[in-house]
Formats: sequence, structure tokens, C-alpha cells
Amino acid sequence: MKGLSDPTLAGAARRLSQAIQDLAARLASDGRTVRIMEVCGTHTMAIARSGLRHLLPANVILTSGPGCPVCVTGPGYIDAAQALAEQGAVIVTFGDLLRVPGSRLNLAETRARGGEVHVCYSPMEALKRAQASPDRQVVFLAIGFETTAAPIIAMLDLALRAGVENLSLLTAFKCVPPALTALIADPEIRIDAFLCPGHVSAIIGADAYRFVAETHRIPCVVAGFEPLDILLAIEGILNQLVTGESRVENQYQRVVRPEGNLKIQRLMDRHLTPADVDWRGIGVIPHSGLALRPEFRTFDAEARFDRVVQPGRIHPDCQCGEVLKGKITPPECRLFRRGCHPDHPIGPCMVSSEGSCAAWFHYDPPGQTEDNHG
Ligand code: SF4
Repeated sequence: MKGLSDPTLAGAARRLSQAIQDLAARLASDGRTVRIMEVCGTHTMAIARSGLRHLLPANVILTSGPGCPVCVTGPGYIDAAQALAEQGAVIVTFGDLLRVPGSRLNLAETRARGGEVHVCYSPMEALKRAQASPDRQVVFLAIGFETTAAPIIAMLDLALRAGVENLSLLTAFKCVPPALTALIADPEIRIDAFLCPGHVSAIIGADAYRFVAETHRIPCVVAGFEPLDILLAIEGILNQLVTGESRVENQYQRVVRPEGNLKIQRLMDRHLTPADVDWRGIGVIPHSGLALRPEFRTFDAEARFDRVVQPGRIHPDCQCGEVLKGKITPPECRLFRRGCHPDHPIGPCMVSSEGSCAAWFHYDPPGQTEDNHG
């Protein structure tokens, strides 16, 4: 496995790999192939970078789900941000969003055409920019799962306390549990277990997946991001499948509590409310997003600028939606490496540092892509 030079860790990895081989052999003797979906872009990258997929037995398949927030953001959102920049707003965004294709342009091209688009590393930079330029309207591109929503809302809370009024959020927050429900309900998708995200779970808690294990009888294991964390989680999943159990296991207890971070949850509840939102290539999933509560409507960029985010136009041959649902692997998209490339991305899955297509492009060279990918 790539990245394990410490002999103690390498020994632990060997022991876990053997345990996984043994469990997989027991499942194989019953003719069972196991599909495990990770719903976290950081896991997707960690799996690709460590070469883990190629280490697993042939009947244990890791497949990526809609775990990259940039990848599930629709082109209409980029179009709206571009239009706000053209109206003279100062756009502040995380860098990953800059090259995501809109219907016509991406935000890097918008900036090249004179739009004011700034890349930030922390949402606090948007607040500082608003305070430094009280005569300008600053719009923060508020995309992300529960993990990212938390610091953005903390920033908004500070802005409200400081009486900053020239700042608004263009929100496209997404929530993981409703996405799991939608994936489970899709009859074309077979998922035997979920590798649950570490960062998101630190906010919402491991108990948030109990409905998956208890109602849908699908094992869930919350995992950290080191190769050993992921191996440990896979071993836990296979153990459950061998014994016929389905429960939530928390293999990331150093960070994740069963109930999550209650303080952050209360802060988010004060400002945000569940909303039906569109997932790129997947469609609208009920209650799968978070919108600003009506009392904070003036800080909602869509309301402030009277501009509703429209669906936008996706390249007709881009199969990001199928990739995000785990129905195909990136190399199965006819544009992968042929027209779609990190330097010339056609879909967001090739842009984002957490995108499946980018992960396969960088870490699975041609010729290694056929084994163990589902
Ligand atoms: S290879 Fe490109 S076009 Fe195909 S699914 Fe991935 S991002 Fe979309």
C-alpha cells in the first residue's frame, strides 16, 4: 500500500489486509460480491492515493458516491454567481469552484472578463472583505456538506453580531443522510454497505446513520482518512456482512461522537432550515439541503439580488450524474481522458480535488482501471 513506510503501520496494514481477505473469502464461498460506497470526497481521494482499491479481494468493490460538494453543485449555481459578478458584486469562493463549468463560462473565465472573483481559504475572508469595503456587496459562495456549512454559518453569525449588512450567501448546502436515502431508493443502485464520512459525522454524529442500518439493513461504518482507518472500516463492514448484522460502527472515535457536535448543530439550526435542493446529475432530493431561515432572508443572495438559481445546462455527454450515483466508474464515461481532462474539465468531477474523475485520472493510470472497480 502506498504511503505506509513505518514498519509498525505496515504490519498493521498486513494484518488487516489478511483479515479482509479471509472475510471476503467467506463471502465469496456464498457467491457474494460486496459493493461498499464511500460518500466523502476525502475518502475517494485517500482510497485512490493509497492504491487501496487494487489491494482488495475481487469480490469487494469500492464505489464512490455523491460525496464531493463541488461535484454535486449544478451549472445554474455557477451561472448565478457569474451574473452577480457581472452586476458588480464581489464574489468570494473556495478555489475548487473556480473552474467548475457553468452553462457557458466558469468563474475563472468570469474573472478574466473583469468580474471580481476572489479565492479564499476561510469564510472569514469574506467577512473581512465586506468590512473593508462597506460600499460593495460581497457574496460568499456557500456550498458544502454539513462540515463546511458549520464554519460558514459561524462566519455569518459573527457578521450579524458585528452589524455587517453588505454580505450575503449564495447557498447550496447539502446534507448527507437524505442523499443516502435517495441512493437506497434507486432500484438501479446496489449498495451493500456505506463507508460513512469522517468530517461530516463529526458534526452530525454517527447516530445520524442509524436509520440506514436499522430500517434499510445496510451496515454503516464511520471512518477516518488514513489508509489504516479505511482498512479497519472495510474489515468492520465485512464482519457485519459475514455475520448478517447491520449496525452503525464508529471507527473514528478520536473525532466523531454518537451525537455529533451539539453546539455547532444548535448554531446551524438557528440560521438554517431543511430545503429541497438539486444535486447535479441526480435531481432534486427532498430535504437534502439547508437554506437560510426566513428571518435571515436579507442575507440570502438570491433574495437580495432577486435572482433565483436555475438548473443550467450540462454538457450532453458528461456522465457526472452516473459517476456520482456509483452507476459507472469514471473510465466508463466516454469523455474520460478523451476531451475531459483536469486541464480541460467538462464536468465538476474532473475539477474538484475531491472529484472521482480527478482521483481516477491522477491515481489510476490507464491499464490499471479494470480490476476491482465494480
Ligand atoms: S470524465 Fe468528465 S465528462 Fe465524464 S463524468 Fe467525469 S467529469 Fe463528467
